[in-house]
Amino acid sequence: MEIYLDANATTPVLPQAREAALAAMAEDFGNPSSIHSTGLKARALMDGVRARARRVLGAGSGRLLFVSGATEGIQTAVLSSLSALRDRPGRPELLYGATEHKAVPEAIRHWNALLGLNLPVLAIPVGRDGRHDLAWLREHAPRAGLVCTMAANNETGVVSDLDGIAAALAGSPALWLVDGVQALGKLPLRLDERRIDYAPFSGHKLYAPKGVGLLYVRDGAPFTPLLAGGGQEGALRAGTENMSGIAALGAVLAALEDGGIFRDAATLGAFRDRLADALQQAFPGLVFNAPPDLCLPTTLNFAVPGVSAKLLLDLFDAAELRVSGGSACSAAKAAPSYVLEAMGLPAWQSASAVRLSFGPVADAAFIDEACARIRVCGESLRDSCLSPGAAGQALPADGLTRFVVDGACCYLLADAASRRAVVVDPLPELTGRLAQWLRCQGYALAAVLDTHSHGDHASSAPELWAAAGQHAGDVDSLGWPHDAEALALGALTLTRLPVPGHTQDSTAYLLHDAASLRQVFVGDTVMPGALGRSDFAQSAPQQYAASLARLAQAAGPHTLLLPGHDYDDRFATTLAVECDAQPLLADVLAGRLDAAGFAAAKARLEQGLALTEYQTVACGARVDGGCLLASSELAVDALRGLLRRHPALLLVDVREPYEQRLGQAPELGSAVRREAVALSGLPDALARWLALPADTPIVFFCRSGNRSAQAAQALRRLGRAQAWSLAGGLALWPRALPAQADAALAI
Ligand code: PLP
Repeated sequence: MEIYLDANATTPVLPQAREAALAAMAEDFGNPSSIHSTGLKARALMDGVRARARRVLGAGSGRLLFVSGATEGIQTAVLSSLSALRDRPGRPELLYGATEHKAVPEAIRHWNALLGLNLPVLAIPVGRDGRHDLAWLREHAPRAGLVCTMAANNETGVVSDLDGIAAALAGSPALWLVDGVQALGKLPLRLDERRIDYAPFSGHKLYAPKGVGLLYVRDGAPFTPLLAGGGQEGALRAGTENMSGIAALGAVLAALEDGGIFRDAATLGAFRDRLADALQQAFPGLVFNAPPDLCLPTTLNFAVPGVSAKLLLDLFDAAELRVSGGSACSAAKAAPSYVLEAMGLPAWQSASAVRLSFGPVADAAFIDEACARIRVCGESLRDSCLSPGAAGQALPADGLTRFVVDGACCYLLADAASRRAVVVDPLPELTGRLAQWLRCQGYALAAVLDTHSHGDHASSAPELWAAAGQHAGDVDSLGWPHDAEALALGALTLTRLPVPGHTQDSTAYLLHDAASLRQVFVGDTVMPGALGRSDFAQSAPQQYAASLARLAQAAGPHTLLLPGHDYDDRFATTLAVECDAQPLLADVLAGRLDAAGFAAAKARLEQGLALTEYQTVACGARVDGGCLLASSELAVDALRGLLRRHPALLLVDVREPYEQRLGQAPELGSAVRREAVALSGLPDALARWLALPADTPIVFFCRSGNRSAQAAQALRRLGRAQAWSLAGGLALWPRALPAQADAALAI
């Protein structure tokens, strides 16, 4: 059963709220504006919910409007204030907290421009603890027209000092908006005891459905309707009311007033502390991004040095623990959190933040289970040698692993028998991780090789040797041991082939096993869809054609080439595939173009080469425009159909080992062959799959369908049509409902 720890994004609907919503749809379905009995019943229900909300929020004589959610409430409040400011002399400032939900600054910018006011908009700075800079606010208060400060932050849970803000605003003409979304049900708000003018709320953050919310407007505060129409809500917000949502919100507020299932602050704080302890034990070195004693008792925001948010999210998700990276809105983009940046946290902390949040009806059994799973996640990470404190108990690793940083590829070739490893094209960003892995596995470095002197970064080989606590010995500038013909690594052998062109010193490394040539590390000489550029000062454009011919002779058309850059997840290529995609390469290898003609044609391609999507120097000129392959997505029913036709299909789990250890896999019957190959291990597995009979379907799956789609597309590009990806991944895989469906509500 999933443990949902993302309550600040949204919550499930309480059973009593569901029942109330259903009743409002099936029985008391009237329109509250109708004057017949059915309508009157609906109005009575609505008035009852409003009265209850008034008590819960301490709304006193203020107005409470039903709206669609906080975003609408914020728009209405901003429109109302800016409309009032139109007539105010001077140029009042519009102030908002730097950590405010984006709905606030975006609404201010939108209405400020649309109303043609163009008033100055300023962010109120916050301190390292996430709280507003009250001295700054005091200084700006006399000139302020609107001040927006949330009651509690959605990412960090930091609770604002509303009394301090009220004091800083004493005597200010500013209107004051307090976003109460995350505070509802967790903090007493006592709206009418403060001079708050507007306060928006969303039902779905507190066990009501999406699409219903509240806006508090202080008695006497300026008001301009956002929606005009049939005069509902006293003509302040037109549109027939969302009665099922209002009924559900009423049921939640009733439960909150009764107190029964909602825990008090001390109980919630104790739950939070237990989760914090479990996290610290599971992930040594973990840091909390905001001081827990200043935060909502239901939110923890943390980062683990050396472990990305993406890795942690995948790991937690595999353990059926739903958490979020920063805020839900920015999670998809994996951008650093602007909230943590505003707090002045170091870049690594704001880029690798994870948020864990639970709702105020959580119980002890739920917290126990969450803590147990957090511990299992920590063990899984330790066993994969990814956790900073890990040692000893790791599984031995064998074969080739690929790492990618902003499109640049680094390879780790490990031999379990000799416990030695070779790194090809080390990247500075990976030094700590690779050294950690080597130490944890107890491997010695046999060599750290560069395929060329890189244009976009200096080789980090010396740092890697130092971080691993080992010595490179007598090696040349690319890390190859002086006088060595070949480099042996267990049953594998590496030899080298000079391929000047991209740079003078470009070198390909050929990896042989006892029987044959397995793969070639080609650096940037040939990349998927591109040839390495040769317009750098250290390039040798006239020698490029001969190098390609030498590579073709050594590797042949079908050996897998492993590139130094892979900007769009193609993993590996072959000369045959590239000749189809790149006419220039086909021409030079077929002898239709001489060295000078090739160099000239290539120079034309490289004119005005733009930066990559990562804002790094492009290492090659794209020539195939990114090929579009037929979709490899397979929905669950289609997979079942395929399985009936091919009972012995190959099912490949492409999640990382630390996820595979924890997660479930689709149940497809015993005839299905299964493999577990993380994307990082794809370069090693591709050759094996390409050798399978052409009609054997290979179906990849992962958590969400993204990584499996990459694997299927990579294999298709190499000519294998029967490569598929399970659409939507395990997230959409049908699963048995928990015995007690409401168990999920223990959050
Ligand atoms: N304000 C805060 C603090 C929030 O957390 C959210 C939602 O994440 C919103 C406003 C916007 O709420 P809604 O999307 O329900 O309109």
